[in-house]
Amino acid sequence: MPTQAYRTRFAPSPTGFLHVGHAYAVMQLEQWATKHDGEILLRIEDIDATRCRPQWIPAIQQDLKHLGFEWHGDIHQQSQHLKSYQQAIQHLRDMNVIYPCFCTRKKIKNAVQSQIKTQTQMSSIDLFDAYPQTCRHLNTQEQQKRMSSERFAWRLNCEKAAAIIHQPIQWAEQTKIHTVNIQHIGDVILARKDIGTSYHIAVVVDDAIQGITHVIRGDDLSSSTPVHVLLQKLLGLPTPIYQHHALLCHRDGQRLAKSQQSIHLRHLFEAGLSSQSLRDFLHHCDGVWSFPADTSAKYITQQLGS
Ligand code: GLU
Repeated sequence: MPTQAYRTRFAPSPTGFLHVGHAYAVMQLEQWATKHDGEILLRIEDIDATRCRPQWIPAIQQDLKHLGFEWHGDIHQQSQHLKSYQQAIQHLRDMNVIYPCFCTRKKIKNAVQSQIKTQTQMSSIDLFDAYPQTCRHLNTQEQQKRMSSERFAWRLNCEKAAAIIHQPIQWAEQTKIHTVNIQHIGDVILARKDIGTSYHIAVVVDDAIQGITHVIRGDDLSSSTPVHVLLQKLLGLPTPIYQHHALLCHRDGQRLAKSQQSIHLRHLFEAGLSSQSLRDFLHHCDGVWSFPADTSAKYITQQLGS
């Protein structure tokens, strides 16, 4: 199989039927691939057993085929690669840049609350960005003792990472170079208590395994990019070029609700919508899904064309 110079991926999670926002994202990838003669790989991001269900995987494949999306090569399913993620976590342990964290959400909330003055401030702070580093300062003996009896997550020690990696970290978003100070990344969770890994670890390892040169994804994930670039530097992996596109939204800028059945590709196709009509609409819609949330799949199909 000849290898192409440029490669990206579409990486849905099997938490339900794909919707029109996914179709919009696929079309951004296809446009990029046409322009750069690149390949698009398909990855199923199913490490989160609390949200993902295997039965959605064939449904995703069927709807993508119906949409006319052709991916390159075999499907990469994250749940088949848990060992690689564990190896990456072990590597970070060996470098001493992660530490076990025993805190519960409640404990973190209370600690953050006591550090800040008002409730109003609290609501605007993301609990995990605001982690008060409680477990960072446990000594090795205490860590060992608690690890044998308590559930724990692994967190990045961003100070230690900053001492190893050349500051600041940089990456390219198309023609723009982004720069972030490692300490500003915070002590993010790199292995969750419940699943033993995290989106951040899995995505970085997979982008390297799959030889991804360009990550093209929704801008809801742009805040994760500094974490990914730092992990690539720590693990000695290449940093792809990043490109974040706006998500398909309602007229008022609200995100589409995944629970809304009438935007599921499956329901629209069943109502008779042709993939070409959907593609034509999405191509010209300027990122706006102009149908109110309570519109039926049948009405959408009548408007867009069967
Ligand atoms: N699985 C993620 C999603 O469904 C995409 C992750 C990525 O592209 O990095 O939004």
